[in-house]
Amino acid sequence: MIIIMDKNSSDQQIQHVLEMLFNRGFDVHRSSGASQIVLGVVGDTQSVDVRDFEVFDGVSEVIRISEPYKLASRTFKQENTIVKVGNVEFGGNKIGLIAGPCSIESREQIKKIAKFVSQTGTGMLRGGAYKPRTSPYSFQGMGEEGLKYLREAGDENGIAVVSEVMDRMDIIPALKYVDMIQVGARNMQNFALLKELGKVDKPILLKRGMSATIKELLMAAEYIMSGGNHNIVLCERGIRTFETFTRNTLDISAIPVLKSLTHLPIITDPSHGVGIRDKIAPMARASIAAGADGLIIETHYDPEAAFSDGAQTLYFDQYEELVKEVKIIASAVNRTV
Ligand code: PEP
Ligand code: MN
Repeated sequence: MIIIMDKNSSDQQIQHVLEMLFNRGFDVHRSSGASQIVLGVVGDTQSVDVRDFEVFDGVSEVIRISEPYKLASRTFKQENTIVKVGNVEFGGNKIGLIAGPCSIESREQIKKIAKFVSQTGTGMLRGGAYKPRTSPYSFQGMGEEGLKYLREAGDENGIAVVSEVMDRMDIIPALKYVDMIQVGARNMQNFALLKELGKVDKPILLKRGMSATIKELLMAAEYIMSGGNHNIVLCERGIRTFETFTRNTLDISAIPVLKSLTHLPIITDPSHGVGIRDKIAPMARASIAAGADGLIIETHYDPEAAFSDGAQTLYFDQYEELVKEVKIIASAVNRTV
């Protein structure tokens, strides 16, 4: 349920409504747009008679939100949420670019890649330190040491950094080093992790689970938001279908669908979405054309030697070319990079 306060309502009137809600045991999330103040009421509001609140002074309208994701829904907040991380922005007119290796492999490796990434005008560096590998015998990531190198590499080149956490225990070290925390596809429904990230004061990059519906993705975002953290960027990274030629099927249709259901920004990850190096650029272009707010791309100076995901990792010249193409597509849909 949301309560829209009259734009001229006084602080006292708002306070009175808040008290009545707290007395009934509800949590309230307040959002102030250009023309209205919205109180998002969270809890079991089924038994509430909306007229009880409509009669209060200063209340303009009381609306029931039928979607199970309340805070993430467009009904709760009509304007796009803009998530800012360093010089990168997601959800506004500007398109946010993230690039880097799948895994942080050494100090030298991440620094070399960071330098290249920043030279292309990309504002955020990616690199995994805690890797969710299908096999326990594959490279598992450098852990906190890797995060330290990632931070150094970002700072040396003036760009922000993002890395994945897989477990609640990874959050504390990650907070020391990263500007944005990634929740990977395999952890989209790790509810204990999501709840903990709700209390964190850092933006979250939330990836869609490989078998998750759009509604489940939004419910995962709702978990984080209900804890108080509304700085979330959603990421379509491909879903499992019957198709075996590609690693996953990048669901481009999720972009316009999510745009209408939620105010949160949505980016795509064509690298994991397709899993084949020469198919990444077309899917990246398609994503921007379909309205995505950004891209996350794997790139490395020597993809063949990468510790993970080499087959879907772009050579530097391919990434450079991709940035040029994205700029052209962006301007065709009235956006900038
Ligand atoms: C990654 O970003 O390297 C990764 C493991 O992504 P996903 O969770 O989408 O598979
Ligand atoms: Mn990867």
